[in-house]
Amino acid sequence: MLVRIDLHNHSCLSPCGNDDLTPALLAVEAMEQKIDILALTDHNCGRNLPAFAEACELCGIVGVYGMEVNTIEDVHVLALFAHLDDAMDFSSFIEYLLPDIPNRPDLFGNQLIVDIEGKTTGVFEKSLFSTSGISFSDLIEEVLSRDGLVIPAHIDRPSNSAVANLGFLPDLPYSAVEAVKVPTEHEVWGKTVIQGSDAHFLSHVGKRNCRLEVPQRSFQGLKQGLSEGIVVYGP
Ligand SMILES: [Zn+2]
Ligand SMILES: [Zn+2]
Repeated sequence: MLVRIDLHNHSCLSPCGNDDLTPALLAVEAMEQKIDILALTDHNCGRNLPAFAEACELCGIVGVYGMEVNTIEDVHVLALFAHLDDAMDFSSFIEYLLPDIPNRPDLFGNQLIVDIEGKTTGVFEKSLFSTSGISFSDLIEEVLSRDGLVIPAHIDRPSNSAVANLGFLPDLPYSAVEAVKVPTEHEVWGKTVIQGSDAHFLSHVGKRNCRLEVPQRSFQGLKQGLSEGIVVYGP
């Protein structure tokens, strides 16, 4: 079956994410946009994933629990997990690797931790804009060893991408790669290419997505679908 996937979205936890973009509103908007499999991928932190998990369950969406990790080389990579617990373990690992630089909300924006109702339950103190202390290749290995999916983000962007910051896309066992522009071929360097919204505002949710042929509407189905790479782009 073809399912609509959007594996790159932020919430109010990301400093650049709008304060109104709560995990619950993300899930509701994605449901209205007919997204079947949806990921929340805040920068370097998964503290809004518990609320996101609850919201996806209520909305009947397959929730994927992720983060957009910033490597030592300043490359953005999506790390995605089937289970909330595994994602929270990974979040602790990345949070520990972040330098002890406090966020400056006045300059960079708030880093709000919220519940399913959107009520603020905390703020994350370290700056989530920092590069974490893990290299690109070590991150790929770490996520795969934890049974996650690992997807270099926006590889065709001129900043914070593997191609821009490393000069090339190393030949590593990615689950897929993400591009902003619709690729002319379904595969680049032998990898499945997907598109995600990278939403930072509610109005951006679902603005880029794609359809993927999967054997079933689940994380395992997603994993298999990405390895087989039958993708349909556009609305
Ligand atoms: Zn990014
Ligand atoms: Zn992003």
